[in-house]
Amino acid sequence: MKQEKAVVVFSGGQDSTTCLFWTLKHFGEVETLTFDYGQRHKLEIECAARIARELGVKNTVLDMSLLNQLAPNALTRGDIEIEEKEGELPSTFVEGRNLLFLSFAGVYAKVAGSRHLVTGVCETDFSGYPDCRDAFVKSLNVTLNLSMDYPFVIHTPLMWLNKAETWKLSDELGAFDFVRTKTLTCYNGIVGDGCGECPACKLRSAGLQNYLLEREGADAR
Ligand SMILES: [Zn+2]
Repeated sequence: MKQEKAVVVFSGGQDSTTCLFWTLKHFGEVETLTFDYGQRHKLEIECAARIARELGVKNTVLDMSLLNQLAPNALTRGDIEIEEKEGELPSTFVEGRNLLFLSFAGVYAKVAGSRHLVTGVCETDFSGYPDCRDAFVKSLNVTLNLSMDYPFVIHTPLMWLNKAETWKLSDELGAFDFVRTKTLTCYNGIVGDGCGECPACKLRSAGLQNYLLEREGADAR
């Protein structure tokens, strides 16, 4: 794949930044695509741009503010609280978000001359978004190929990894410190280790602690 170009769906968070490092390792030419859908924090868009600049890859921001018209939710609307109830999708859920993002990314990639798409979606310990599941991604891959008569390949390096394993992957890619200090996952817009209080920070730090324990164990052996 070294001769080929890939487009990474990129938010500036832990997962997509790890995917960006993975893509830089496997592909000769890489660019990133960021979706602006009125996130609570413009900081997310800035963070994505800053990381792309630092790694020397092109970053394009697509205006997806129409998402807010379709599906008002806690990430885009200040008046909806972020909460997660047992057995329900969290209030940060945007119906069909990944379907739309990946479809737009497909159109963008073909025009940019790339058949490879990379996304950080994952089935393992996330909140059960149906359009982040492996079966959906494979199905959309076929649909994209048919819709544009083009041999797309959607890569999902994190699909079966839990958060600790995602930290491990970033470490294997030599990007552990970069991901830890420069990415933005926190719903309160704090880069790096974040506020420590919101659901995104809790998930991220639990994974990090698990990975660090595992690494210490391995070092001690
Ligand atoms: Zn936070």
